[in-house]
Amino acid sequence: DQDRIFNFAAGPATLPESVILKAQSELYNYHGSGMSIMEMSHRGKEFDAVIKRAESDLRLLLAVPDDYAVLFLQGGATTQFAAVPLNLCEPDDAADYIVTGSWGDKAFKEAQKFCKPNLIWSGKSDKYTKIPPFEGLEQNPNAKYLHICANETIHGVEFKNYPTPSNRDAILVADMSSNFCSKPVDVSKFGVIYAGAQKNVGPSGVTIVIVRKDLIGNAQPITPVMLDYKIHADSASLYNTPPCFTIYICGLVFEDLLEQGGLVEVEKKNAKKAGILYDAIDGSDGFYVCPVEKSVRSLMNVPFTLQKTDLEKKFIEEAAKEGMIQLKGHRSVGGVRASIYNAMPLAGVEKLVAFMKDFQARHL
Ligand code: PMP
Repeated sequence: DQDRIFNFAAGPATLPESVILKAQSELYNYHGSGMSIMEMSHRGKEFDAVIKRAESDLRLLLAVPDDYAVLFLQGGATTQFAAVPLNLCEPDDAADYIVTGSWGDKAFKEAQKFCKPNLIWSGKSDKYTKIPPFEGLEQNPNAKYLHICANETIHGVEFKNYPTPSNRDAILVADMSSNFCSKPVDVSKFGVIYAGAQKNVGPSGVTIVIVRKDLIGNAQPITPVMLDYKIHADSASLYNTPPCFTIYICGLVFEDLLEQGGLVEVEKKNAKKAGILYDAIDGSDGFYVCPVEKSVRSLMNVPFTLQKTDLEKKFIEEAAKEGMIQLKGHRSVGGVRASIYNAMPLAGVEKLVAFMKDFQARHL
């Protein structure tokens, strides 16, 4: 549609056009109920069907094993920075954190309030452009879990495979906010996966937590009910009023991803989009530079700078005039960042690459 622009925002982010149109068509009178989904009881039969279908479609997409609970929670991924240690640790328990960017760092700092986290690796001195080799990691033998941020949204660094906790009883925990449902994941490798919806699977307002059932039920006594996985698992995410409309949109996105052929197909499309963008950067004779080590470059968030940094503002402004918006890098790192989640069409990336070549030709 010509009215829709290409939105490269990091989140909230672009949604599939088909999902927006379907939501629009169902908005005024949802399935003949005489009201919109926003106005309904979360305990009514319509919403019950919506949340059940969203959960079962997500289980299909990620092949979530039966011994895992899928929770639709509130508070953003930021709330999970606290919920994870509160649910998995006693106050004196150790937990290991690998910090590959600002989000992992925030998770580590929040955990300090609720357990005894160890920073076992940090990419800070390399400006968060790397993922460590797993063999050399010095994990704490008593750690309850090993925490990673699977994709660092600001720095564009993505785990391509996953470390195994060295302690047999420890579990791997991943913040997948910015690459959730962008590719197949072996859920059984993780104890907890959490993700805010607002990048790949919906609007802001819901955080999806996938947690192995045997880990549920040991929350610290001080844990607020809203952060206790057991409360939400026992009531199928309906302990209190959930973000109904957001869950409904997530359900439409899951349907769309299944219709596309599931996450194997989705990953192929994402790899293609990221490939042409990184090729354009690497083939620019240094006009554009991506600082991230090639083997761990994110398929979702592509940060780059212009060698002539004084041109960055102009680049971002001119791109916006041509219908490509939100290309400014995060305020903490500057430069340019193109977030190209599932719903960014190939045409959007092709248009950006054409613009980059043209801009370069005009500023040599
Ligand atoms: N983790 C990652 C990887 C993120 O990208 C973000 C948001 N940009 C967060 C956590 C925080 O998420 P929220 O705003 O949903 O709390």
